[in-house]
Amino acid sequence: MNKDSENKYTVKNVSEDLVDFYLDECLARHGTCSCARCVADIRAYALNQLPPRYVVSSAGNAFARARAMSTQAKADIISSITAGINLVKQNPRHD
Ligand SMILES: [Zn+2]
Repeated sequence: MNKDSENKYTVKNVSEDLVDFYLDECLARHGTCSCARCVADIRAYALNQLPPRYVVSSAGNAFARARAMSTQAKADIISSITAGINLVKQNPRHD
């Protein structure tokens, strides 16, 4: 197998894309501080709550597949983000 064909396939955790996709909406709804530090803390917290969902991605189709996930999976993602937001709101890592 040559290097080019190896590079066409990457293994990707679509939970990360989904957290990013719903994060802005959740931040706006909860009126949370959206500085880089708080957003990073919320992302890390949410991703630690969620099972990783690795897919083999070729031609950037991973996100399309992720969006086709079940309603329950989406609800889990949004609830993990919300839990992270509440935690960071109570304990921001800055003044
Ligand atoms: Zn902040």
